[in-house]
Amino acid sequence: MKRLFSPWRSAYIDSFKKKQKKSEKCLFCRIATEDRDDKNLVIWRGEHCYVVLNLFPYNSGHAMIVPYRHVPGIGDLRAEEHREIMNAGAKCIDALTKTSKPHGFNFGANIGRAAGAGIEHHLHFHVVPRWEGDTNFMPVLGETKLISEDLKRTWTRLRRRMST
Ligand SMILES: [Zn+2]
Repeated sequence: MKRLFSPWRSAYIDSFKKKQKKSEKCLFCRIATEDRDDKNLVIWRGEHCYVVLNLFPYNSGHAMIVPYRHVPGIGDLRAEEHREIMNAGAKCIDALTKTSKPHGFNFGANIGRAAGAGIEHHLHFHVVPRWEGDTNFMPVLGETKLISEDLKRTWTRLRRRMST
């Protein structure tokens, strides 16, 4: 249950974030500029934004839509960014529907730390597939290794879907 309700609080995640802080670079900006989509789990790139799998997923297939520009708020986005982010959301939901048949989705942004934003200075939108009763099976995904193997499989499947 810990992973599901406080996904940013485990010791593993804290150590990961500390490492990020040391490098002094925004994780989303780094992923945007790196040419390592397989390592970084990027499943799609557009002109203004990209879609990446969450390394600490709330559910299998948990993706994030991230504008290339480092801006904190929805109001900071330009019209063309709004448009592409919304289209990427639809594309992502479509790909997830075809690959893993969820019963529903959460789609949205956590704005500010108080709202649960893990990386608050670089706006991003979550796409979380939901299954009825998914709160019950999540605790079995406790091991980091299991999750990373699951992520690789999800990445391969979704990347193929997103490019069609
Ligand atoms: Zn950034």
